[in-house]
Amino acid sequence: MHSYIPLSPTTFLERSGQAFPNRSAIGFATAPWAIAYPDKIVTYAELLHRSRCLAQVLKRLQVGYGDRVALLTQNNQQTIEAHFGIPAIGAVIVALNPWLAAQDLLSLLNYCEAKVLIVDASLSEKILLNPLFALSHLQQVIVIDHAANPIYSGVLDYETCLAGENGDFRLDQTVVSELDPLAINFTSGTTGRPKGVICNHRGAYLNALGQALMIGLNRASKYLWLLPMFHVNGWGHIWANVAVGATQVVLPDHQIGDGYADLIQALSQYQITHLCGAPRLVRSLANAPGDKRGFRGLTITTGGAAPAPTLIQQLDEMGVNFIHQYGLNETFGPYVVCEEQEEWQALPPSSRAKKRARQGVATIHAGTGLRVVDADRRDVPWDGRTLGEVIVAGNTVACGYYNNPEATEKAFRDGWFHTGDMAIMHPDGYLEIRDRLKDLIYVETDYGWENISSIEIENVLCRHEQVREAAVIGISPEELGKNRTLLVAFVEARDSQTLTGEDLRHFCGSQLASYKQPQVFLFTDLPKTATGKVRKDLLIGEALKLYELKI
Ligand code: ADP
Repeated sequence: MHSYIPLSPTTFLERSGQAFPNRSAIGFATAPWAIAYPDKIVTYAELLHRSRCLAQVLKRLQVGYGDRVALLTQNNQQTIEAHFGIPAIGAVIVALNPWLAAQDLLSLLNYCEAKVLIVDASLSEKILLNPLFALSHLQQVIVIDHAANPIYSGVLDYETCLAGENGDFRLDQTVVSELDPLAINFTSGTTGRPKGVICNHRGAYLNALGQALMIGLNRASKYLWLLPMFHVNGWGHIWANVAVGATQVVLPDHQIGDGYADLIQALSQYQITHLCGAPRLVRSLANAPGDKRGFRGLTITTGGAAPAPTLIQQLDEMGVNFIHQYGLNETFGPYVVCEEQEEWQALPPSSRAKKRARQGVATIHAGTGLRVVDADRRDVPWDGRTLGEVIVAGNTVACGYYNNPEATEKAFRDGWFHTGDMAIMHPDGYLEIRDRLKDLIYVETDYGWENISSIEIENVLCRHEQVREAAVIGISPEELGKNRTLLVAFVEARDSQTLTGEDLRHFCGSQLASYKQPQVFLFTDLPKTATGKVRKDLLIGEALKLYELKI
């Protein structure tokens, strides 16, 4: 039909390859950072040619429409190419978390019945040398950089494969329906067994355009990849950058380690305009020693967990253009944004930061499909108090879970996806996440039982100048064998030598109602998932162990 063509993010590269053939699509930052940028550049014409070649390679390997092609890669050029080459033939991208244990990776590969695996040489050992590998459904493995150090037999080398193709296969010809699956993204399992979220072409297309607008990407942008590309396809930003002809800057190895100070230097050296990361990463960057001039004017988008108002204030003082978003795997990543109102700029810095720590309103691509509802699915009043569940429906909400009808029916019902996140609505229509349903803490008060939000207590603790980060959990009376809930605060102190539980008890006493005050303070490094979420499941076990030891 002349007025309808299925939406697919693969079309972005066909267009940008034509519109900006000589512009740099990918730049590489190389350590040590002192080496002048650009060391190496991939132009849009090259990215288009290589992605088309990858599509031809996969076709030659008999990968069919709807077949799964898994990626086990760090943030690199090939991952970007795969985000165009795989869906161009109607196959489905399964980007795996490289930090998972070999056994988990193999079980996910089998679960999604991936036909082909594209793997970095540096990660290949984990899978290819595992005894369970022989039992997998994989028909072919393509190793990136294998020719340089050919240690396996029976695998293909990525570059050699690409070199054998002519690149005349267009990326925009194959997708039949825009609602066909484009990617399966596994949840990190902080809420149970990983589920494979099915994203379609239409949602990814709309999410990418919406995100380009929400975070202000354009052809002059230089986007530094710190967010893992495997996580919800890098929140859709691989496609968003290509849509507008921006440059994506890739680090040699995703793990930054202790190199934050160097990284800060790289920001100004490479004139980075955008970066995204979970609050933990952003905090590490903001706290790293060194000259912070590169932060001025930089757009930092955070999400995945709640940023503390203190962090927001700190970024503001550094001149960062800060954007706070909320979303899930099931919403293709960012779905809610804290749109700043002009009048907030006149507020005292701490009040302004508090407003900006709220998750906000629907993004452009989410449209009007965002509600906070009670158990009878009635919208909660906008009173800044009444707690309800966040539910969403719209063009960037996933179709369901791969091969898991039970979980799909449970979460996607009556036309809405039930996020399991509990929130309040403020009188100005801004949503504030209070907790995941399972993390809400029920405590006894003088007047009965009350639900309290761990985030609220954590934010208060973060206001203490010696606290870097905090996570609060409640141990229920049943778990404890006592008649009351115990609130335990795990605290990462800036200087664990000087800060004491007594200091924090005193601090909370002046700022929190008595039933919200933690009874126990433990100083520790907080365990995190690869995507920056605190593993509260581990903390509960840890607290119970200590409690048994009579802390
Ligand atoms: P999982 O951790 O199960 O893999 P996701 O990676 O999809 O799940 O994470 C989504 C969850 O992260 C949300 O349900 C919410 O609890 C949390 N989250 C995401 N963004 C924010 C935010 N800005 N503030 C608070 N919580 C957030």
